[in-house]
Formats: sequence, structure tokens, C-alpha cells
Amino acid sequence: MASQLASKKSEAVRVIVRIRPLSKTEIADGREICARVDTTRMEIALHNPKAAPGEPPKLFTFDDTYGPDTLQKDIYDRSAAPIVDSVIDGYNGTIFAYGQTGAGKTHTMEGVPDVPELRGLMPNAFKHIFERIDTTGGTERQYLVRASYMEIYNEDVRDLLGKDVTTRLELKESVDSGVYVKDLTSVVVKSAAEVDAVLQAGKRNRVTGATAMNAQSSRSHAIFTVTVENQGKGLDGKEHICVGKLNMVDLAGSERQAKTGATGIRLKEATKINLSLSALGNVIAALIDPKSSHIPYRDSKLTRLLQDSLGGNTKTVMIANCGPAGYNYDETLSTLRYADRAK
Ligand code: ADP
Ligand code: MG
Repeated sequence: MASQLASKKSEAVRVIVRIRPLSKTEIADGREICARVDTTRMEIALHNPKAAPGEPPKLFTFDDTYGPDTLQKDIYDRSAAPIVDSVIDGYNGTIFAYGQTGAGKTHTMEGVPDVPELRGLMPNAFKHIFERIDTTGGTERQYLVRASYMEIYNEDVRDLLGKDVTTRLELKESVDSGVYVKDLTSVVVKSAAEVDAVLQAGKRNRVTGATAMNAQSSRSHAIFTVTVENQGKGLDGKEHICVGKLNMVDLAGSERQAKTGATGIRLKEATKINLSLSALGNVIAALIDPKSSHIPYRDSKLTRLLQDSLGGNTKTVMIANCGPAGYNYDETLSTLRYADRAK
């Protein structure tokens, strides 16, 4: 029984690692590669560029690994599609992109919108949802799909689809709906193209609402949620409604934010980012540990907000993104350790 429970727990959370290719600049600068992937063994070998000659690399294994040649479609099919299928069937699911700024989180989640083969997980998920609805929906089952998009910045929740992105929204809790964000905009969407448009509109808000867009987006967590409500006759012949929620989260950059010299607002910000990322790591580690009886959801806004989509009968995938170059060694090691603990 105990072992059954253990395997059930670990199936619900998968931790995978993606190493991006060297960038053009990195190639031009002659950067060496320090992180290599063995996709058959699902293993990452990390070489410390400062290691003594003959010192072996550090080895890490994960639920899945993706190297620099990985196609966006492969990562979607293997890691996201099963979650999206279960969301359409009425379960919740969450996909996280973790890693330092520049490691490939946004490329993995969104990709390049105008280039079909470079489209990321999110547009692929939108397409998948509406393809399935169009084949199974109709007279027997009726679907209602909604999208919302928010960001957590400095432990403040902001609506990226609202009139004013700077308004702070409150987290509320009710017996019926659990933890929810009060007054969060929710848009009904009828096609993949409409969800794409909602995502782009939210991104524009993120830009206009911020003074230094790049700096800010790397310090905030962006949460895009698609809710799929489906109504139809159950096996008992009665009408049932079931609701599944898919959260797609582009996390704040995991680089140590509180490097020397951070003071005032920057330091406060840094502390909060580190807090929510470590709270998330703790929640995932606790979900995976069969011995843990307490899941510390309440330790950050991010984990509170996603409480009903992490653990239980939900599915979660954490995609840890890494840069391959030697100058990223410290951050890549810290990402692999974070992912290893969450595994
Ligand atoms: P992050 O969101 O983690 O800060 P990005 O996704 O913006 O990082 O990636 C940084 C840069 O590297 C971007 O120019 C992006 O297009 C490129 N990039 C990231 N991952 C890949 C990949 N797997 N293949 C090709 N280019 C990538
Ligand atoms: Mg990004």
C-alpha cells in the first residue's frame, strides 16, 4: 500500500530538464559547453570549467531530458500533451518553466509565434484543446473555454488582462472554489487563435505597465490559465459539469537576485523572488516525498494560488531550463540541484 502510494505520488509530478543550444553570440565568443545531455539515460553531465584535470563531471538523472536539438513539438508531445488531455477530461494541471534569465523558459513556453515549428508549449496546448473539443464536442458534450493571465510581482498579484495592470488583486478563499483571485479577468475563447490573441494582449500589457520590461519580466512569475468546462451526460444518464484548469507558468529568473549591492526595493524584490521559488521547490519536494504529510502551500502567493492544481489528482511538470556554456556553470548547477530536489 505504502509503495503504491509512493509511485502514485511521483507519477503526478514530473521533473524534466532542457538544455538550450549555444547562442550565436556564445559561439562567436568561443564559449565552451559545460552541460551535456544523454537522452537515452535521461542524464545530464555537468563539467566544472574550473575543475582539476581528470575530475569527473557531476551527473544528474531526471524523469526526462532534452538536449539542444530538441524540437518544440517533441517536448510538447512527451511532456505537455498528457497534462492537456487530462485537463480536457476535467482534472487540473500545471506546467512550470524554471531557470535563470536567458536559459530558455519563454522559448519553451511561448516560442516564436510566427514560425510554426518554433511555436512553444502554450500555442501547442491551445491548438490541442480546440482540436479535441472540435472532435468530441457537439450535441453530446458542450465545452466552455476561458483564459486568464496574471503576474506575481513582489508578492503582488496583477491582472494582465485588466484595465490597469498596476492594480493589486487579492487572494480569497471560499469553501466552494478554494483559493481564487478576486476580480481577475476571465475571457471566453472559442478557438486557438483567440487564446493566442489573449496571450499577446496580456504580454502587451506587461510591457506598457512596466518601466523596464525586460528586467521586470525576469523578476515576476507569469501565470496563464486556461479553464475547460465540459457538460454532458454521465454514465448515470444525468447531466454533469466537470472543470479542468491548465496553468502555464513562466517563472521569475532563478539567478541569485540578491547578489552584492542590492539594497532597498531591489533587495526586497530579490528576497521575495527567492522566497516564492524556494516555496515552490518545497511544495514539489513534499508532494514527491511519500513520507511527507504536510504540503507547505501557504508559504507563498504562487503556491497558494496553485494549490488546487498541485498534488492530489492533478498533473504537474517542472521544466528546468539551462544554458550550456561554461560561464553559466554556477547557475546551471543551481538549477539542476533545484530540479533534482523536486524530482
Ligand atoms: P528566458 O525566458 O529563460 O529568459 P528565453 O526563452 O528568452 O530565456 O531565451 C533566451 C534566448 O535564447 C532567446 O533569444 C531564445 O530565442 C533563445 N533560445 C532559448 N532556448 C532556445 C532553444 N531551445 N533553441 C533555440 N533558441 C533558444
Ligand atoms: Mg523569459
